[in-house]
Amino acid sequence: MNAYIYQADLFCPDCAKEIMAKLDAAGKKPKDPDEDAFDSDDYPKGPYVDGGGEADGPQNCGGCHCWLENPLTSEGVNQVLEMADDEIAKGPAGYNRIMPAKGTGEEDASFAHWHGSPHKAIVLEWLEDLTSYNLEPEQQARLDRALAILRDGEDPEEYDAALAREGEGEDEEVQPSPNRDELSIGEAANRIVDALLESGQKYRVKFPVTRDMSPIDYVVSDKGMETKEEEALWSYNRSRAHDGLRPLTELPSGVRFVPIQADT
Ligand SMILES: [Zn+2]
Repeated sequence: MNAYIYQADLFCPDCAKEIMAKLDAAGKKPKDPDEDAFDSDDYPKGPYVDGGGEADGPQNCGGCHCWLENPLTSEGVNQVLEMADDEIAKGPAGYNRIMPAKGTGEEDASFAHWHGSPHKAIVLEWLEDLTSYNLEPEQQARLDRALAILRDGEDPEEYDAALAREGEGEDEEVQPSPNRDELSIGEAANRIVDALLESGQKYRVKFPVTRDMSPIDYVVSDKGMETKEEEALWSYNRSRAHDGLRPLTELPSGVRFVPIQADT
């Protein structure tokens, strides 16, 4: 949204036009329309794009108090997230309270933009805008929480409890490795080179019987960048692939490495 500057405050186009119309009617229109020729204390200057530009907080109109849609710095993002936390701390009775409607006589003229809306509408407008930002993970988590509570009406305690449960579940999940075919080809090449170049301490790795594999063992060793554990996993996954099984991301429990003596 465009913004105008008047008497050291920013104004939305509607309010700026209202001010200009009043000044014009009072004969105070600048004789020279060139902005360098008059002072913004005497007559609004503008328009300036993007609500006056990036700032460390949301810029609001000095008249109706609507948000001027200015971009925010990282500090500005944090400021909005803090205001959301303050709003949440008020509890539903506070943030769902409807701003006095026009004509009730209780309204504060500077909040005209939100009259008839719940109080949380003030921060929700800024929060919705943050969804298009590329946020830090910590900021994104705070934004998601604020939107869930203020916009979607979730209970803060239930939200936090669900998040904690989700966090526990994630730890147990085995993440399948992406691009496993490419990795396997790369590793296969490395392995051939390594095998040709060196022969270190060798181990017999014994895999136990599992739900879908018979017991199996391989000869492995620590080579350069690759450990015997990695080589064991690679060999095991190759055997699994033969049986049409999906690769594992870590060694199954019960795997044993037995050093092979050089003289045997
Ligand atoms: Zn305004």
